[in-house]
Amino acid sequence: MARGVTVWFTGLSGAGKTTIARRVEAALRERGVPVELLDGDVVRQSLCRDLGFSREDRDRNIERVSFVAKLLTRHGVVVLAAFISPYRAAREAARREIGSFLEVYVKASLDTLVRRDVKGLYRKALAGEIRNFTGIDDPYEEPEQPDLVIETDHETEEESARRVIALLQERGFIEPVRAWPRST
Ligand code: ADP
Repeated sequence: MARGVTVWFTGLSGAGKTTIARRVEAALRERGVPVELLDGDVVRQSLCRDLGFSREDRDRNIERVSFVAKLLTRHGVVVLAAFISPYRAAREAARREIGSFLEVYVKASLDTLVRRDVKGLYRKALAGEIRNFTGIDDPYEEPEQPDLVIETDHETEEESARRVIALLQERGFIEPVRAWPRST
């Protein structure tokens, strides 16, 4: 059984939000937990395809997603929301609207991100081919009191995913499973 909650992954592009959310999604689905992934890149091609990257549009993006996440959460779904969501105020508004909410800060150093450059966007942003790129020429406001910080510079994907699942268990949103191997 599960209680509805939104796990909000915030962090710079390429930090690992989607990767971790997908792993958590697969693990929860396997355990029969109702789960839904809301991913920034997907949402920006569908529900929010009319929006750009000004502060106003970024806020609207998060507002729409929060609305959807709220509906799912109140029906007992574990919602995994993976959005850069650079503005603290927008994340706090999401927390207020959704209610049952855990903030996970997916953190990696800029050096690592530029080295990874999963989507080739840092190269373009550093060359000035993309403007308003978070972390390069647009702000990212770090969470002040996140429920969990994941440092993907130092952790494997599996460790990171496990820590999110452990958080859900600790907070009583999903039941502990004995089959899940202990990390200690
Ligand atoms: P985001 O969704 O934050 O833009 P992605 O998940 O698309 O980021 O990309 C993250 C990249 O970092 C992937 O290539 C992934 O393999 C790598 N990575 C390395 N370590 C980790 C980790 N602990 N957690 C998540 N991703 C990691």
